[in-house]
Amino acid sequence: MDTYLNIENKVRELEDENKQLRAIMLQWDSAENTLKSSNGELKKNEQKLTMALKASEYKNKSKSSFLANMSHEIRTPMNGIVGMVEVLSQSKLTSEQSHYLKIINSSAENLLVLINDILDFSKVEAGKIDLENIEFSIDEIIWNVVNILGLKAKDKGIELITYIDNKLPRNYKGDKVRIQQILTNLINNAIKFTPNGEIYISCESGIVKNNKHQVIISVQDSGIGIAKENLQKLFESYTQVDETITRRYGGTGLGLVISKKMTELMGGKINVESKVGTGSIFTFDIWLDNIEAKKNNDTFEAIEKNKSEINIMLVDDNAININVFSKYLESEGLNFKSYINPVDAYNTIVKEENNIDVFLLDYNMLEYNGIDLAKKIKLIDFYKNSKIIILSSLSLSEINDVYDNKIIDKFLLKPLRYNELIGSIYSSLKLLNKKSNSLNIDKAKICCDIHPLKVLVVDDNKVNLMVAKLIIGKMVNNIDIAYDGKEALEMHINNKYDIIFMDVHMPVMNGLIATSEIRKLDNYISNVPIVAMSASAMKEDIEACKKIGMDYHISKPYKMDDISNLLDKVSELVKQH
Ligand code: ADP
Repeated sequence: MDTYLNIENKVRELEDENKQLRAIMLQWDSAENTLKSSNGELKKNEQKLTMALKASEYKNKSKSSFLANMSHEIRTPMNGIVGMVEVLSQSKLTSEQSHYLKIINSSAENLLVLINDILDFSKVEAGKIDLENIEFSIDEIIWNVVNILGLKAKDKGIELITYIDNKLPRNYKGDKVRIQQILTNLINNAIKFTPNGEIYISCESGIVKNNKHQVIISVQDSGIGIAKENLQKLFESYTQVDETITRRYGGTGLGLVISKKMTELMGGKINVESKVGTGSIFTFDIWLDNIEAKKNNDTFEAIEKNKSEINIMLVDDNAININVFSKYLESEGLNFKSYINPVDAYNTIVKEENNIDVFLLDYNMLEYNGIDLAKKIKLIDFYKNSKIIILSSLSLSEINDVYDNKIIDKFLLKPLRYNELIGSIYSSLKLLNKKSNSLNIDKAKICCDIHPLKVLVVDDNKVNLMVAKLIIGKMVNNIDIAYDGKEALEMHINNKYDIIFMDVHMPVMNGLIATSEIRKLDNYISNVPIVAMSASAMKEDIEACKKIGMDYHISKPYKMDDISNLLDKVSELVKQH
């Protein structure tokens, strides 16, 4: 009986377990179903996401190619405008005409900045900016920008003051075009938003870490300033802090966003400090490889007189200028005293009769101008042998009426480089040896050498052909033209040109195909230098030209200097053949 009961209990227990198992199985099933359905959902979502991603990639791609096309379409007629302006500006013009021409030129340049900004921004958005790493000199970049924008500042009556730390190594490896772009944007803004006063550009060295040198560049203006609540917005896309300001000054609101991105790509940061009504200071730092072999060469050797025996008096009513020139004089180890007030300076020399070898006098000062002060100094017998150097932001021709070269030993146009200031001090005292003397002032290149070259220009656009003929025609006297690649190919077979300037987008046969056809010809005529002259200026376009066998690329619109530099190179090559 007991055994029977035991079995019955066992069966019941088993049945219970079975029930529990079934319940678990049921739960399992429903969990599996839920999992299956969420898996399905997930898959659907994944598909949706992939589709959205593809759509956005497509959108981005078509946006980039739309922008590239638009840039090409705008650059083509711009080439006509910029080229013709350059050709016209070389002819005899009345001052009114050359004034109008300057306006056309600056409008064209503004339009180009706009196109480049939009293109760059689309590259920034797509994460497509690659940096170059080539050797360059930091002071050349700064002076280039200062020279180009200096005219614009001068037209507004603003002084550009530049300081480059003389101890800074000058030769680096990096992307000079991008650095120039950031600097141009900051100085352009400073000029745009400063009604009067000065803009101070300084470049100093920072720290060295992991063999990278930090270079710190700042642009300080005395302009309208930016309200505190707007400072954060500055580096956001399409933001201009105040629409009324934008309407008055123009611009895309992209410049600072692009500058920030590029600074970050070079390992640095960009900052701004500003006060409404007082001005702004933008500072950015970049990290570069230093080229050890080439040291800063702005040193003056073989000075007969001991440097410490030379005494200098500096008079300038602008505190920033005093600061910059003082740093240069200190760095060279020269004795000097500086005065911000010309009356104080004059009273001191009358009273003290200290030995002063060189007076550095600013021209444009409130109390006396530099030349009047020079005349007063020269009336004092004690200083009759002292040298006088005038520092001026007005050119010599602008102050010709008052200039007197019997009293003044040297005239220097601001902004000044270290070697211009120091070199002029030494040369006024006749202390320079020949080697140092050659450092003194950069010689302007006078346009242009005539090259004995047979040139073919290929373009389907008549205006651009005319521009090319006029500009290239200033440097060579044997130019033919062709309207498409096929015609160019036939003409080259018959005439054997020394160089071919080839547009890329053309009907019948484009420039790329024409180039590859030329490269298939007999050796002697197949290796003619071919220059792509194209309004497609994106990196991919330039690479495509190189890949097909073109030797050089010039972006439209181009300048006379671009062509002249290239012809210099090609002439050398042709001579060697
Ligand atoms: P934009 O091409 O419009 O100048 P930016 O990105 O370079 O674009 O500048 C954005 C805005 O920041 C400007 O429209 C202006 O309102 C402000 N800004 C930039 N630089 C200065 C400056 N130096 N002084 C005052 N405002 C400035």
